[in-house]
Amino acid sequence: MKLKTIREANLSGRRVLTRVDFNVPLKDGHVADDTRIKATIPTIAYMLEQGAHVVLCSHLGRPKKQVVDELRLTPVAMVLERLLRSEMENQGLGPVQVVKLGDCIGREVESVVEGQKAGEVILLENLRFHAGEEANDPQFAEALARLADIYVSDAFGTVHRAHASTEGVAHLLPAYAGFLVEQEVAALTKVVEHPERPLTIIMGGAKISDKIEVLENLIPKAQNVLIGGAMANTFLKAQGFHTGRSLVEEEQVATAGRLLRLADSSGTMLLLPTDYVVTDSLDEPRRVATVMAHNVGEGDIAADIGAQTADSYREVIADARTAFWNGPMGVFEQEQFAAGTVAVAQALASVYESAYTVVGGGESVSAVHHAGVERRIHHVSTGGGASLEFVAGYELPGLKVLEKA
Ligand code: ADP
Ligand code: MG
Repeated sequence: MKLKTIREANLSGRRVLTRVDFNVPLKDGHVADDTRIKATIPTIAYMLEQGAHVVLCSHLGRPKKQVVDELRLTPVAMVLERLLRSEMENQGLGPVQVVKLGDCIGREVESVVEGQKAGEVILLENLRFHAGEEANDPQFAEALARLADIYVSDAFGTVHRAHASTEGVAHLLPAYAGFLVEQEVAALTKVVEHPERPLTIIMGGAKISDKIEVLENLIPKAQNVLIGGAMANTFLKAQGFHTGRSLVEEEQVATAGRLLRLADSSGTMLLLPTDYVVTDSLDEPRRVATVMAHNVGEGDIAADIGAQTADSYREVIADARTAFWNGPMGVFEQEQFAAGTVAVAQALASVYESAYTVVGGGESVSAVHHAGVERRIHHVSTGGGASLEFVAGYELPGLKVLEKA
């Protein structure tokens, strides 16, 4: 996939509408994790250096097509300004000020954008306050396009969505990829196209239905597939074992069975947990024990992979040359059920020298932080759904519009 990038654009004196993914977690009205903001700084700084008038836009949370004061981008603007200032200072560039607007389209916004001064970066208000954004409404896309001469996408986390700011507007302006999108695509391409073998895929998490198609595409390509998390329960059931009161997606049991046969016929080693950490309750665990996979009791809830499983997964990861991980091995948010997830994170970190490692997915990335190994993972994706769909070989609408003719 060859993208048009900002390096090829003449940015000097141009107004550049830049879609970023500032959909960050908030806590008590503050940005709780600024990873996604940090990830866009190189692109913004480059465009400023090239003399562009930068107008940023993003969504935040799920405001359901109306103004929600808690989901305004005001706290994001503060963090952005601080990060941009220190970047500009480091590069010996001029001062910068972030001007946060109260809306993202309309007369008032247009007039502020027309009067934009050098050194100002404009941040539009939450795109999803308007129904037109997610509906990819042509009129809303036009209203956005009126604000600029050029469109840049640096919002990797939303490229799998065909929304007005990620897809529609790109048909109305010359469109380019920013550095983050370029870098994410390059990193994930190494997993999809001619990965060094063995390719080991580690899948877990809660929702098998979202991820099953990914496995369908990956099983034939991978040499090893390691399954954990609630996803493993559905596979366990497909094998005829008891799953007690564990989270199982009944509608996917047949699909899981089909995937097991697909692994067989593809010569892919698909490993399921041989032991589990089980409990009587996820909210208030009184009983926590490790049992063998064929011994999960009626009252048991599988909450993590067991130590034996973690050991064998660690061994497989040790031999990997390429590894992609999505979805925690257990309910890692609780310390008692975090060991399996931490073991996988550490196993990936320990092959840093011999393998190319990629982690994608909202909770998976926070599990990597939780284990404190982010510096020993080659690529930590800012996109969850986007990275999964990319790895599965889907055509992503927000990337297609940036492709070279
Ligand atoms: P990601 O965001 O990395 O793609 P998911 O959203 O699919 O991952 O799943 C993450 C969630 O899965 C975590 O919050 C974790 O608590 C939950 N989870 C993992 N294992 C289990 C399990 N055995 N039972 C219930 N929930 C689980
Ligand atoms: Mg998630």
